[in-house]
Amino acid sequence: MKTKMVRESVMQTIRSSSIRGLSPKGSKWFIFIVVLLGIIAATAYITSNYKTEYRVLLRNNQELGIVSSPQTIQAWMQQKILAYKSKHPGVNFETNEEEMSIVPIKTWFGKAEDEKTILELEQFFTIQSKGVLVEIDNKPIGVVRSKQEANLILTQYKNRYLPVKNNSRVTALSYSASPVNAASVKTTEFVESITMEEIVIDSQYFLTTKAMMKKLEESEEKKVTYTVRSGDCVSCIAQKFNVPLKVIYDNNPWIQDDLITIGDVLNLSVQQPILSVKTEEEVSETLEIPQGTEVNYDESLRSEVTKVLSNGSPGTKKVTYLVTRINGEIVEEKAIKATILKKAVPKRIVQGTKVVKGIGTGSFAWPITSPEITSHFGKRWGRLHAGTDTVSQDRSIYASDHGKVEYAGYDSGYGNHIIINHGNGYRTLYAHLSKISVKEAQVVEKGEEIGVMGTTGRSTGVHLHFEVRKNGQQLNPLKFLE
Ligand SMILES: [Zn+2]
Repeated sequence: MKTKMVRESVMQTIRSSSIRGLSPKGSKWFIFIVVLLGIIAATAYITSNYKTEYRVLLRNNQELGIVSSPQTIQAWMQQKILAYKSKHPGVNFETNEEEMSIVPIKTWFGKAEDEKTILELEQFFTIQSKGVLVEIDNKPIGVVRSKQEANLILTQYKNRYLPVKNNSRVTALSYSASPVNAASVKTTEFVESITMEEIVIDSQYFLTTKAMMKKLEESEEKKVTYTVRSGDCVSCIAQKFNVPLKVIYDNNPWIQDDLITIGDVLNLSVQQPILSVKTEEEVSETLEIPQGTEVNYDESLRSEVTKVLSNGSPGTKKVTYLVTRINGEIVEEKAIKATILKKAVPKRIVQGTKVVKGIGTGSFAWPITSPEITSHFGKRWGRLHAGTDTVSQDRSIYASDHGKVEYAGYDSGYGNHIIINHGNGYRTLYAHLSKISVKEAQVVEKGEEIGVMGTTGRSTGVHLHFEVRKNGQQLNPLKFLE
């Protein structure tokens, strides 16, 4: 509009000047005005067609096109991103937007070709999904949407190996009937190293939580070989490497009758999950402390004599173990703490140590206490009374000297009677007993009770008939008694 007006005014000026027929001076002036007006008009014309537009450039300064406004590009990209998001919910992605720059330029008469530029852009612009690659011991396992998702899966995997309270019996000590206290888990960790790396990957390769979990559970053969050393045995090796015996036999069919020799190479490879969980838990158990026996020796008592002074009682202690498990299997168990709850009180006994050899001292003691002689050694009614008859309030009969019981039994004359051989040529005889308390071959001590006074055999009342014999000859006991 403005341009048109200027143009018209210039034309008018030219027309009017030609009509009037200007002087040379006047014509110079006229030209000047025409030129001036021309310049003004041209400037106005140019200015009016001069615009700010936008070049879309790639990194190498290659031009994708020119657009009328940056919003054109941004709105288009925004729409692409929204479409991607609705198609791939929750998936991380990246675009190559960074590789593009939008630079304002001045153009004349407008060079913007929005539609064409967007067609070019369509060829160039990319949206790529990003996933997290999980690697175990540097071996790629699978891709999930995010680190957060990967961590959730790993936590879930780990949790299934946490010991269950009721399940955590200490196997090595299972002979004990005492209850095992609840375990407290100290550490839980993966045996293998886990790395996560964000990578650009088509979302079709993403694993679901379930599929990823399955991958982790997959087992693989862990190659282990072992060279037999001195002192090894098949079951020792099985225990040391926590490998079932069956696996050793299956892997090494050459083993016959458990024979292995130093230098043999055993294949101990086993199937193990790709990912193993190691837990350490503290388990405590109450155990009995055996009471034991405290022995005091007494040389005044014979070696076969034992006297119980007190019975004592067992104690209790609480033992805490650190139990290490891999995938729930116990691989190590060590006691780390023991607390005595109740001290054990030992049984106390007195043990005699005196050994009696059954050899007489040569001097004889009275075989009864407070003896009263009723009949002496000597001839009576034409017959020899070969012993001494005695009675006593206390009817216990004691060995007159150390010796060995040579006879303990009955006959019609002596009734129940005992003969002790004193090992020194002497024998003593105790007759008419109501009870015999020793056995033949028994070693007796001087003063030891051997029986009870009675009236068995040819006897006319309760008394002891006592004889002393030397080399088979009956002698007068009174000559020997102390
Ligand atoms: Zn007699």
